[in-house]
Amino acid sequence: MAEEIKNESTAGNFIQDFITEDIAEGGFYEGKKVHTRFPPEPNGYLHIGHAKAICIDFGMAEKFNGICNLRMDDTNPTKEDVEYIDAIKEDIKWLGFDWEDRFYFASEYFDQMYEFAVELIKKGLAYVCELTPEQMRENRGDLTTPATSPYRDRPVEESLDLFERMKNGEFEEGTKTLRAKIDLASGNFNMRDPVIYRINRIPHHRTGSKWCIYPMYDFAHPIEDAMEGITHSLCTLEFEAHRPLYDWVIDNITAPCKPRQIEFSRLGINNTVMSKRKLRQLVEDGYVAGWDDPRMPTLCGLRRRGYTPASIRNFCEKIGVSKTNSVVEYSFLEHCLRDDLNENAQRVMCVLNPIKLVITNYPEDKTEEFEVENNPQKPEDGTRKITFSREVFIEADDFIEEKVKGYNRFYPGNEVRLKSAYIVKCTGCEKDENGKVTTVFAEYDPLTRGGDTPDGRKVRGTVHWVDAKNYLDAQVRLYDNLFTDPEPDTGDKNFRDYINPDSLKTLTNCKIETSVAGIDGIKHFQFMRLGYFCTDKDSTPEKLIFNRSVSLKDGFKKK
Ligand code: ATP
Ligand code: MG
Repeated sequence: MAEEIKNESTAGNFIQDFITEDIAEGGFYEGKKVHTRFPPEPNGYLHIGHAKAICIDFGMAEKFNGICNLRMDDTNPTKEDVEYIDAIKEDIKWLGFDWEDRFYFASEYFDQMYEFAVELIKKGLAYVCELTPEQMRENRGDLTTPATSPYRDRPVEESLDLFERMKNGEFEEGTKTLRAKIDLASGNFNMRDPVIYRINRIPHHRTGSKWCIYPMYDFAHPIEDAMEGITHSLCTLEFEAHRPLYDWVIDNITAPCKPRQIEFSRLGINNTVMSKRKLRQLVEDGYVAGWDDPRMPTLCGLRRRGYTPASIRNFCEKIGVSKTNSVVEYSFLEHCLRDDLNENAQRVMCVLNPIKLVITNYPEDKTEEFEVENNPQKPEDGTRKITFSREVFIEADDFIEEKVKGYNRFYPGNEVRLKSAYIVKCTGCEKDENGKVTTVFAEYDPLTRGGDTPDGRKVRGTVHWVDAKNYLDAQVRLYDNLFTDPEPDTGDKNFRDYINPDSLKTLTNCKIETSVAGIDGIKHFQFMRLGYFCTDKDSTPEKLIFNRSVSLKDGFKKK
């Protein structure tokens, strides 16, 4: 997988090659400005799969100094969903792309689509068919038998009249359709006189009840592209077999331009689902807290989890563009985030499961300050001060009562480095009536200020800590895969059967250094030794909430 990823990203890609050819001397679009579009259907929030398409659509335009439109593909009548439209815009902007003033709705072209359909009828290239959906299925033929329709050869005038009456609402849903007259025997079933208009009485969120007939995607999409002067219509692989129909529509109407459709593979990521319908079910059935739940593969979910635009764009760049659908490992997405945060996240110390460490030979009323680096990768990010006193918090699992081979942290008799502060020697512990360790005791070596041993003696373990005199309380949310199965929705699996019951763990008693006081809004941190975290959208200076974005350890293995 890693090899494949690397090769695809460094070699440029076939879409780029096609476009280069097209705009070169003698090419179909010689000297033209490259013009692409991103056409989401506003029926849900964008997910990481859409991010791939966005990076390709906007990215290709950028590469060729061209432009990319944002178009809501709203040819299916639905209820008004301003929520989705606003969220789609926000997510694309967040990724760092801009459609400027080129924001369109496919429904804006309903009038032209109707006119083009009439043009096809007049040319003898479309007819009104009266087969019901069921009859049409029965008459679709098979590989060796052509489809049939008794209405195929009806006079142009009759089709014109019926089509107009369809538009006027004279017929019931399912009783009539408009079909393109192409080839009932085609080996490509999409070309067997496909339906291009159907009756549907659901009001449309933008055109209201003006229309009761709606164009099918395969007819509408090439027209939308042509109306906007799109040169390259980039889409996913499932439209490959529809390309002959796309071209047929463009070739047979008086299209203002002739866009070229190029297909690329869909992105899948393991341990998640990637269809708006399934994501909506997760939200509606309460498996997650909303579209922006940090476990969701939606862009708003990833953002809330702590993903940065740079990490997602980098991921999309690295997975490359190909013609084979493949599932990318979730760990590769995490790898890309870690890359970005390692470079840019502020380091702090936070203890998730605190127990007290009492340094018995340290003066009770004393407090020291240590100046520590904000980011060792970026000295220019400066330093901050942390305090140290007789009692500090450490992680409960940084102490064990009896030495175990390979364990270098606290156990009686062992020396451990308190990161950036002192070397301390564990002397014992105190337990409650249930035998649970409540306090660990140690003695510090005053000659090790800053964490170095003057005599060069080896201290293996280094732990993070937070001053117990000077800290803030925080809630920390740890996330795991939403699904236990790597491919929860393949074959006849029901993804609900593979929901991971432990995908969210909330820790409410965490202690964090006071340098994070006052943060409002999303900020990224590395909690030393624990991973990368960011403030949740519900975090306030009074009630700090952090989400773990990704752990420190890279699970992505180059094969
Ligand atoms: P979904 O099944 O998630 O609803 P869709 O294809 O119906 O997907 P659209 O809103 O129609 O969603 O998609 C807008 C654009 O994003 C289309 O060009 C589509 O090809 C692309 N796209 C959607 N999902 C993916 C994916 N997983 N990988 C790459 N591109 C995708
Ligand atoms: Mg769709």
